[in-house]
Amino acid sequence: MKNYVSLLEIQEDLKQKKTSCKELVLGYLENISKKCDLNAFIDVYKDEALKRAIEIDEKFQSLTAGPLAGMVIAIKDNICYKNHKSSAGSKILTNFTSTFSATVIERLIQADAIIIGRLNCDEFAMGSSTETSIYGPTRNPINKNYVPGGSSGGSAAAVSANLCQVSLGTDTGGSVRQPSAFCGLIGLKPTYGLVSRHGLIAYASSFDQIGPIAKSTYDILAVMEIIAGKDDFDSTCVAEKLTKSTSTDEKQVTFAVVKEALNFPGINTRVQSEMNRLIEKLKSKGHLIKYVNLPLLDYLVPTYYILTTAEASSNLSRYDGIKYGYQNKQNNIDDLISYTRSQGFGKEVKRRIMLGTYVLSAGYYDAYYTKAQKIRRLIQEEIIKILKYNNFILLPTTPNPPFKLGEKNSTATQMYNEDIFTVSANLTGHPALSFPLGNISNGFFASAQIIGDYFNETSMLNTVAKINSE
Ligand code: GLN
Repeated sequence: MKNYVSLLEIQEDLKQKKTSCKELVLGYLENISKKCDLNAFIDVYKDEALKRAIEIDEKFQSLTAGPLAGMVIAIKDNICYKNHKSSAGSKILTNFTSTFSATVIERLIQADAIIIGRLNCDEFAMGSSTETSIYGPTRNPINKNYVPGGSSGGSAAAVSANLCQVSLGTDTGGSVRQPSAFCGLIGLKPTYGLVSRHGLIAYASSFDQIGPIAKSTYDILAVMEIIAGKDDFDSTCVAEKLTKSTSTDEKQVTFAVVKEALNFPGINTRVQSEMNRLIEKLKSKGHLIKYVNLPLLDYLVPTYYILTTAEASSNLSRYDGIKYGYQNKQNNIDDLISYTRSQGFGKEVKRRIMLGTYVLSAGYYDAYYTKAQKIRRLIQEEIIKILKYNNFILLPTTPNPPFKLGEKNSTATQMYNEDIFTVSANLTGHPALSFPLGNISNGFFASAQIIGDYFNETSMLNTVAKINSE
């Protein structure tokens, strides 16, 4: 089937009767079964996707179809969908069927998107490689010996291999942007409070956001227009709706380039040279580049891991095997909970629960948790200050290109350190958009990201669309 870059092209073909929703779904289903070795999908909703496609084809004919008619979407396994399984890639939830749908799912269906299946991810979205899922690792479609990134690795692999048009991932510390970068795609981490978290299986509630992965800024915008905005089920979701566009749609844009990121000691030289090429291109188009310092860069990863593990230890305490999910039957309740959690969670999740419990314990709370909260505030102040004088902050999405399966599993911190450029936007709540630059090696791309002011997503998308077309 045709590899459509955007929904615009799909809807054009639908109008001219060159394709139909049914044909599109059949095409994706064929691709999914041909490329099952990628292990991107955990479940494929074959019959219901086809049924929906036929319904939407009829609506399209009678001009009553919603704005996302023709868009076939797959969702990460930590987003709940009524009467469907959701397991966050964990054994502890393998037999869990959701009794309600996440707000994002409700809105997508309302807009006539077709949901084709659920996608593999790291267990409870903890990871950067999609290797910790109970369903086994997902592979990178560009080269199957490499990881697709994580934790939304299934979401990125599926779009990159044309198994669906767009996918939803979640980003707590980079899990939409880093897999997008590893698979040559565009990924958005929205402003904290723009997209409802209702129905998202929580990892770290003050960091988590749901975001789209796509081949074009057009599709990201189309999805954001539908999923963004206030929701009575999530009191932290404060934005009325997606802001249209602002002054940053002007011709000349100021980019603040973080010196410590560009000259980061561990950065791959090809990533660095692609960043420099982008900077030169921006300058030649009349944009302004200002070099700024982010002295707290070294504190980002430790602060992120202290705070997210603390929140995770609390969020994951609900999985006790009593009301739902996996249960390891024992004669007394303490043993039941303890055996259920010991057997139900994987190694990385248990590591984080223990670390989080430790930093929250009475004796260490001030030394770790309170201190990390203070640093979080300082980082936020630094970013806000930079954005006061510049339209966007520009930095690479990841310091290195994708790594091979198993390559970064010897120590946990080896993988954590790779999150250095993505976690700041989650610590501060700012929106961040990752987009591919040039080819660097083995068919992989370097990627850059821009961080914008709160609720400035539309301008960020317009800016990246402009950069790409220039
Ligand atoms: N790689 C980061 C982590 O392991 C980010 C995860 C995420 O954004 N869900 O926590």
